[in-house]
Amino acid sequence: MSLHGEYDPQNIFAKIIRGEAPCYKVYEDEEVLAFLDVFPQSYGHTLVIPKRAAARNLLEVDGDSLSKVMAVVQRVAKVLVAELDPAGVQLAQFNGAPAGQTVFHLHMHLIPRYEGQALEAHAANKGDAQVLTELQARLQKRLAA
Ligand code: AMP
Repeated sequence: MSLHGEYDPQNIFAKIIRGEAPCYKVYEDEEVLAFLDVFPQSYGHTLVIPKRAAARNLLEVDGDSLSKVMAVVQRVAKVLVAELDPAGVQLAQFNGAPAGQTVFHLHMHLIPRYEGQALEAHAANKGDAQVLTELQARLQKRLAA
């Protein structure tokens, strides 16, 4: 059911795009926004979303928005690797609640992976505000360069 349906303009990411809800923004341009996941599954867990597309998931998004999102996904992935030196980076994207989707505005997860470290549970444990703020500043600086 949640794979199909109407886009809800009151979803939390739509509010973040409109500036009605806060986020730890690390990168923004006309089309794409990247910000820290507030329930990080690892240190550096970042979300990348299209700003103009009212798309719930991969099936609905227009190709132009998707390609712009993916270009930023690659850019952020490179910055995560350069700044945090993880052993790997996981790219994840869920479509429909049974697939794990909880916010119904298309988004890509970039999750740095560190040797010997298991992931935190999905969307479960709120990150420390100070840690997120410091991380935001580090990534923002690299992404602005
Ligand atoms: P998904 O389950 O793929 O829909 O992922 C939604 C993600 O959004 C989860 O990883 C949540 O931790 C994250 N999330 C939920 N609310 C916020 C928020 N206000 N700011 C940043 N990340 C959020």
